[in-house]
Amino acid sequence: MRRKLAAGNWKMNGLRADLAEIEAISAAMGLSPDPAARAEVLLCPPSTLLMNAADIAQGRIAIGGQNCHRLPFGPHTGDISGPMLIDAGASHVILGHSERRMDHRETDAKVREKALYAHSIGLVTVICLGETAEDHDLGQTVRIVGRHLQHSLPEDATAANTVVAYEPIWAIGSGKTPTPAQIAEVHGFMRTQLIERFGAEGEGMRLLYGGSVKPGNAAEIFAVPEVDGALVGGASLTARDFLPIVEALE
Ligand code: PEP
Repeated sequence: MRRKLAAGNWKMNGLRADLAEIEAISAAMGLSPDPAARAEVLLCPPSTLLMNAADIAQGRIAIGGQNCHRLPFGPHTGDISGPMLIDAGASHVILGHSERRMDHRETDAKVREKALYAHSIGLVTVICLGETAEDHDLGQTVRIVGRHLQHSLPEDATAANTVVAYEPIWAIGSGKTPTPAQIAEVHGFMRTQLIERFGAEGEGMRLLYGGSVKPGNAAEIFAVPEVDGALVGGASLTARDFLPIVEALE
């Protein structure tokens, strides 16, 4: 049984005042008499808030970074390393988000290298992939997703150290989402590919959908086969929006 996962990506949003939202989300998760029976919750705030967020979360929710370097330290101004994330209290890291692929020219090969290093120090990676609007309109979705999957996921990926997030770029922050049938096609395809490559580990890897998930559409998306949760951007910024999404998963 794959445990459901609701992951929030705060992107370049969040000041110390917004830690109140993390407090509210982790407090709600801490209320359950049997937390392991619930969906897992992961929040990825900006690096400046990681330490505070981890202190607030107290293990009731997981805390993750939004990126890390492929090296542990060195002359890389402005970058953040895996050991720094762990030192700040993070257990997870998002890699290969389409915004990083676009803004920082991250390729599948770079994402794979970063993932290998992150795994080697015990971080769980949330590896993002997805097609552009153009590829979608040209009917290339499955081909693009297959390519990302093959080249971004490292050979040491397991059910425990890797989560895959399918995020159609045209759905991110746009209010548009694929139909449930389209999500089912992509997630079914990813599952088949993962089982072919990783066997039972591929069966156990969690597959998240991401792109304009909101309280109003979460239940419909979570009913799609092979959707094990969501990677949520805008709607993860407040407890008011995020908690109903977590509830829809349970
Ligand atoms: C994201 O950036 O990962 C994302 C899914 O954003 P949003 O939910 O705002 O579309």
